[in-house]
Amino acid sequence: MAIKEKEKKPLHLAKMNIKKGDTVLVTTGKDKGKRGTVSRALPQVNKVIIEGLNIAKKHIKPKGQTRQGGVIEKAMPIQVSNTMLICTECGEPTRVGHERRPVGADQKVRVARVCKKCHKVIEDRTRKE
Ligand SMILES: [Zn+2]
Repeated sequence: MAIKEKEKKPLHLAKMNIKKGDTVLVTTGKDKGKRGTVSRALPQVNKVIIEGLNIAKKHIKPKGQTRQGGVIEKAMPIQVSNTMLICTECGEPTRVGHERRPVGADQKVRVARVCKKCHKVIEDRTRKE
């Protein structure tokens, strides 16, 4: 997917609370109120792609014998500020804090994402245990 040049930001400025595998709630736009799983995080542009949400229809031209033409549906990126992380513990959309907590299988103290509502650690589904 092409990312517009003006949207590019230095990597060190990119900080998102939402990661691949998280469940999020969409708070604005045509998919407002819907929940979905983040299939891809794009921290360079502060956007996330959510499975099955913000679908755009894309018209594809047939290309020789290898590709059929037609309309495909593609999930487009959503501004991360238009989503809220859903806590893995209490199931509520929440803001995210960062605290040093023992997390993971080895219970090592790391900076973890913490739910502002139930104050439990939000599970990071991409972490290799
Ligand atoms: Zn919670």
